[in-house]
Amino acid sequence: MTEANGTTELPKTCKAGVVVNEGPDFTVAVEDVPVPTPGPNDLLIKLNATGICYSDIHYMLNDLPMGSMSSYGVRSPGHEGAGVVVALGSNVTTWKVGDRAGIKPVYDCCFACELCWSGRESYCDAAPQIGLNFPGSYQQYVLSPARYTQRIPDGVDDFVAGPIMCSGSTIYCSLKEAGLRAGSWAVFPGAGGGVGHMGVQIAKAMGMRVVGIDGGEEKRELCMKLGCEAFVDFTKVEDVAAEVVRICDGKGAHGVFVTASSAPAYASAPGMLRISGKIMCIGIPPIGTAFAGADPLLLIGKNLTFSGTKVGSLLDTARALEFAARGQLKPIYEVFPVAKLPEAVAKLRSGKVAGRLVVDFNA
Ligand SMILES: [Zn+2]
Ligand SMILES: [Zn+2]
Repeated sequence: MTEANGTTELPKTCKAGVVVNEGPDFTVAVEDVPVPTPGPNDLLIKLNATGICYSDIHYMLNDLPMGSMSSYGVRSPGHEGAGVVVALGSNVTTWKVGDRAGIKPVYDCCFACELCWSGRESYCDAAPQIGLNFPGSYQQYVLSPARYTQRIPDGVDDFVAGPIMCSGSTIYCSLKEAGLRAGSWAVFPGAGGGVGHMGVQIAKAMGMRVVGIDGGEEKRELCMKLGCEAFVDFTKVEDVAAEVVRICDGKGAHGVFVTASSAPAYASAPGMLRISGKIMCIGIPPIGTAFAGADPLLLIGKNLTFSGTKVGSLLDTARALEFAARGQLKPIYEVFPVAKLPEAVAKLRSGKVAGRLVVDFNA
């Protein structure tokens, strides 16, 4: 390894979870792959942990309108990595070997367009995705452009930082953009899932009154423990929207943050809102399987707003990590050793995960 300004001896190969048979019947295998060499402006990061995000499964299924992993020559998805810098490109002056670093969904951006100038760089036209356009955090040693790599603050361990890189940052961004005030009702369809359970905590820390919607006792317990004032179990309650309205002063919620990705979750959301309420779309359904909207009469009569949040910015991710450093955001996760990465993906795909799954590269 040339440019490694530190002295650590780097291995030639590392473990990586790779997709096999990309498409509806994909599986994941763990293989030894070459450790990449950083370009002049890159960091080489040795990951200790990676979260498993449902977007990874979308990329492996190839069910989003974004081009396939294989068309970019990428076999490892993943965008929730946390670890340490082990080598620097020759131009890099702002990082040093040993610094803690995180991998988030956006790989880099142009820093020269109005989106980048206004803190919305995750929507930049020149913003490729790691784990789709570039090898992702299922690979233990990954490259990341130094200028767009996330620093991980003290007091946030790698298992906590990983899931915040995508889920925590995205839901923080969505809460910020929704503009709800302290005391407002924030409702989370999918509250017990990877994104939702972090939204519940951040909304609570922002002073909002939180209602969780999800299915089953395990999700109920998690949601109530994390600060929901009420929980609606969609497997038991027939009219979920009516129940939410009843809970929220009989008027409805100020904001509904749809972190679930199912058609029923999106279909029922407008009926939960009070006048001037906001629907924030976050959960990603396979293309053509869900619809966010309502009869125009409802939007007109209630002054409703629909918006969507893709992923957080560099600043949003830093803010979300600060919630964790202060103890207000604690991702709930189950750890899998790297050899069991395929089982972790299969478990998430089954939809039976409360909180997040995180892979330990050192186990
Ligand atoms: Zn993600
Ligand atoms: Zn840009």
